[in-house]
Amino acid sequence: MRYISTRQTSGRAVSFERALLQGPAPDGGLYLPERWPALDAAALEALRGRPYAEVAAAVAALFTGRAFSQGQLARIAAESYAGFDHPATAPLIQLGPDRWLLELFHGPTLAFKDFALQMVARMLDAVLARRGRTATILAATSGDTGAAAIEAFRGREAVSIVVLHPAGRVSEMQRRQMTCAPEPNVHNVAIAGTFDDCQALVKALFADAALRDEVGLAAVNSINWARVAAQTAYYVYAALALGAPGRSVSFVVPTGNFGNVYAGYAARQMGVPIERLVVATNRNDILACFFESGLYAKGEVHRTLSPSMDIQVASNFERLLADLSGRDGAAVRALMAELAKHGRFTLKGRRLGQAQAAFAAARADDDACIAAIADVWRESGRMIDPHSAAGVHAARRLRSGGAPVVSLATAHAAKFPDAIERAIGVRPAMPPRLAALAARPERVMELPADAALLTRFIRERVNAPRRERVA
Ligand SMILES: *Cc1c(COP(=O)(O)O)cnc(C)c1O
Repeated sequence: MRYISTRQTSGRAVSFERALLQGPAPDGGLYLPERWPALDAAALEALRGRPYAEVAAAVAALFTGRAFSQGQLARIAAESYAGFDHPATAPLIQLGPDRWLLELFHGPTLAFKDFALQMVARMLDAVLARRGRTATILAATSGDTGAAAIEAFRGREAVSIVVLHPAGRVSEMQRRQMTCAPEPNVHNVAIAGTFDDCQALVKALFADAALRDEVGLAAVNSINWARVAAQTAYYVYAALALGAPGRSVSFVVPTGNFGNVYAGYAARQMGVPIERLVVATNRNDILACFFESGLYAKGEVHRTLSPSMDIQVASNFERLLADLSGRDGAAVRALMAELAKHGRFTLKGRRLGQAQAAFAAARADDDACIAAIADVWRESGRMIDPHSAAGVHAARRLRSGGAPVVSLATAHAAKFPDAIERAIGVRPAMPPRLAALAARPERVMELPADAALLTRFIRERVNAPRRERVA
């Protein structure tokens, strides 16, 4: 299995290992498998009824080429999901005759990002150990990604992790999930600025070749192919539970950066019988507009009750553009250049038709999300979070043609207690994992949005000997 860049017009394909370590391709594009691996009916049958970690290892094996032995992958997957607090790892809950909820929030930070980051951290650690190298993960976060990344990388031998968040702009719970990690390889920085300032700093530091080499900068944001590959497993797992390969299913996916739903698309391309992938957005509906009309136009970002979906330009969308364009790197470059120059582009004809054959879209404003939280509570006594609610709202509007519809629940309701209380008048109970954080000391460095200061901080901390090792 080799990987090419979405913008590639010539040159060689790279290994999974290289794509894992590198994040974005050197030409600015994103890595994609040269061709989709196949999960045919016999392969699916063989996975039916297997525990989640086994499905995850089998799906990962289709993408990782020679990077890991089967035994290694089995061990990585088993360890990745051992800390989830539900025996099914990703349980399916029935909401109605043909409507289901796939709960993806039973991991250590209570959001679906644990599924990918737990695997990616172990893969990266294994690859670095083999090469006798160390790396420094640098990430900007508006909340959930930073928490999941810190949880996955804390205490790992070969990796330091530096996470930037905008000071005062993440919830207390999200901040504590990051700053309460005691391990000396974890470094939190609160930047006086916005999430965009944090992202700009990350970009500036990655452009500093000397620093990059010195501390081995690496990225695990949602464009890292390994994250998409790991997420593909729960689409396979849920489809099997509902009758694949004999029966098709549709998925509704609360979407921001297009990474989660793109993993569903990967499963569909591999042969999993998925009828439709429904992109559910909040008021930030650039993707919903695209799938309706072909127009992809940047707007301003609105704050909503579902902050992890408050995104205008969805980074993984470039991967779909590459597929729709027949992997023509020049065509992708032209679209991205048009987006950079005019803030918009339009797809028509065959490319739009192909997109609409696989995807549908729906948007939900805050009021619709509140109503969906209340509906699910009334009907089933379950609490769903505002991101998942955008999906449930979309699922209710979808005509599936008889295939079961699975809404992905991407975060635990307790992460958003105010929205839940507004919807149903009841505050969710604090899960023990979160409650325990309140008593722990926080560690965070406050810095202005200044690349030189941040560079100095990273050099000092990452190169410092690690005295206080945690047993
Ligand atoms: C990250 C996130 C999303 C959006 O997922 P993408 O892969 O960026 O589309 C949705 N819901 C929650 C709770 C998230 O943390």
